[in-house]
Amino acid sequence: MNKFGIYMRVGIVGGGISGLLSALALEKEGYEVVLFEKDKIGGLCRSEKIDGYQVDIGVHAITMLNNGPLIRLLKKYSNYLPNFRSYGDYYIRLNNGLHKIPVSLQEWLTTPIVPHKDKIIITTKTIDLMSMGFEKDTSVYCAVKGLGLSEISLKFFDTISYFLSGEDMRNTPLWRLFTGAGYIPEDDILPFIYEDSKINPMKSILIKKINPERVRNILSKGFLKTIKDGSKSYISKFISGERYSTQGYPLGGIQSITNCILNSLKNTRIKYEEVISIEKDEKENSYIIGTNEDSYNVDIVVFSAPSRILPDIAKNIDEIKKLENYLKNIKYTTSLTVWFGIDEDKNPLKYKGSEIWIDPPAWAKCITNYDKSLAPEGKALIGVSFVNKTEKEAYEAIEKYLNIDVEKTDFLHVQRAIPEQASCCIGQFFVYPKVSDTFYIVGTDADPRSMGITRAAYSVDVMLSEILNKKSL
Ligand SMILES: Cc1cc2nc3c(=O)[nH]c(=O)nc-3n(C[C@H](O)[C@H](O)[C@H](O)COP(=O)(O)OP(=O)(O)OC[C@H]3O[C@@H](n4cnc5c(N)ncnc54)[C@H](O)[C@@H]3O)c2cc1C
Repeated sequence: MNKFGIYMRVGIVGGGISGLLSALALEKEGYEVVLFEKDKIGGLCRSEKIDGYQVDIGVHAITMLNNGPLIRLLKKYSNYLPNFRSYGDYYIRLNNGLHKIPVSLQEWLTTPIVPHKDKIIITTKTIDLMSMGFEKDTSVYCAVKGLGLSEISLKFFDTISYFLSGEDMRNTPLWRLFTGAGYIPEDDILPFIYEDSKINPMKSILIKKINPERVRNILSKGFLKTIKDGSKSYISKFISGERYSTQGYPLGGIQSITNCILNSLKNTRIKYEEVISIEKDEKENSYIIGTNEDSYNVDIVVFSAPSRILPDIAKNIDEIKKLENYLKNIKYTTSLTVWFGIDEDKNPLKYKGSEIWIDPPAWAKCITNYDKSLAPEGKALIGVSFVNKTEKEAYEAIEKYLNIDVEKTDFLHVQRAIPEQASCCIGQFFVYPKVSDTFYIVGTDADPRSMGITRAAYSVDVMLSEILNKKSL
């Protein structure tokens, strides 16, 4: 029985982190939950044990551990919290060594990664853009082109763009770079993301939910003026280098986040079946979820699989039909991750944190620096994630940057995946989690904030606030 004293059955499609978090919260709120997973529970928030090593699905850092939605939801609903280790810094590897990625004014002015002339241009331009404001669809490329920056600086911005949005700098909005660096709070941008998608009722919903005065004020001013008005505080973040959020990596790999939820679930029924149809049963005022094995009647649907497949699954649901063109055109990118194991004494990444490479863009991290049990004794386990690259290109990059021939290492494992169901790129459509009173969408295509797991958790937070009819947690 939920808090309204009503017996409600919820069908959750997909058992990744967004489906599992939804199941946990709704179960604890008194709903009867059945969750469908067509493949492996945990989705991308999962680790695999292979030949004595334990690899995650992709290289991970968990964002916003101090004040983010994942921790808030777990604190409220799970029996315990995963044990997060502090993440460390982000570095860039160049011919002349490993350097901390500059974020603050001071770091930019002293970084050895770009020529002196570029340091002045980049810092002046950053302050300029924040003071003068910029439009929502201004790209990173638009901001840096014509400044006469060296090739290394341009490649740096291209690489950072890939990791923040999944796309290159021409397709990455400038606001994403500034929110990612921690200068601009995401809540200042959020109202504009949904407002532009005319069919999403986000504007009015946000006004009701997230600090009504502030959102109303922001929306009435428009994007450009909001940035201009916020410039003083954004610039002060840039100058001070103060960060909004902390990052970490869980002991036991990212599987331990999924395990924490699985161990806290009590009554949720998990069906390892692929959902192939969702139909409305008008007579019963409910939905029939059809799988390849059976059909199930539920009162509420929470869809956590990629929403671009929804129009094909929920063909007869009017609210989905209205969104069809938007959902089918959601843009996403694919990643390739190479994991390899080597002797610890030959580990080139003996530090906490991770590094990026710029040619081609890549992100590398040694996860045994956080938890030695993820590899056999005396071995180090390194993962390198690439965007849209072939195995051959990835191996060549690893050889070039780390001087390691991965095909001759102790352990080699390659993964392909779609890191986020919607790239955070210019012109992207994000569906609002509430489609109707009884149909919800969660996952990384239902919220543009932060990254992967945190982003998925944000969407669950909003979905819950709608179902439970209260402000976000
Ligand atoms: C290379 C790489 C690097 C990453 N780095 C980070 C990082 O640093 N930080 C971070 O937070 N995140 C990162 N992520 C992303 C993060 O792991 C995911 O965004 C997040 O786990 C997605 O969760 P989800 O539940 O929304 O989707 P998913 O995990 O994709 O779950 C969806 C589930 O639905 C199931 N499903 C699909 N269709 C059906 C159907 N018809 N019926 C039943 N089930 C279905 C799928 O099998 C899947 O299990 C990374 C991912 C990759 C690949």
